[in-house]
Amino acid sequence: MTDYAENAEELFGGGECVLPRNVAICPECGGEIHVDCVEWDAVSGKPTQAGLDIACLADDATEPWSGEDNDVSHIYLQGAWQPVRDAIWQWINQV
Ligand SMILES: [Zn+2]
Repeated sequence: MTDYAENAEELFGGGECVLPRNVAICPECGGEIHVDCVEWDAVSGKPTQAGLDIACLADDATEPWSGEDNDVSHIYLQGAWQPVRDAIWQWINQV
């Protein structure tokens, strides 16, 4: 089993993972992407495309506030993030 498959298994089972950098990176800052799955297909057990919640790790609101005035504030433009969504979806279906 490859690392990527293991990573994806985590996504299927536990609901979230950090995306391998060679699948996709943040189109806004080039950082790693955090994928959260909130909906699964009842038959296959795989995440559904609509159930994927994607956010840049650097911009993740669940990260504790560092106290630094960083300028990482993403706007999540549909056009910029659609290729990322597509790449993640392709990755999930490869596993
Ligand atoms: Zn980012």
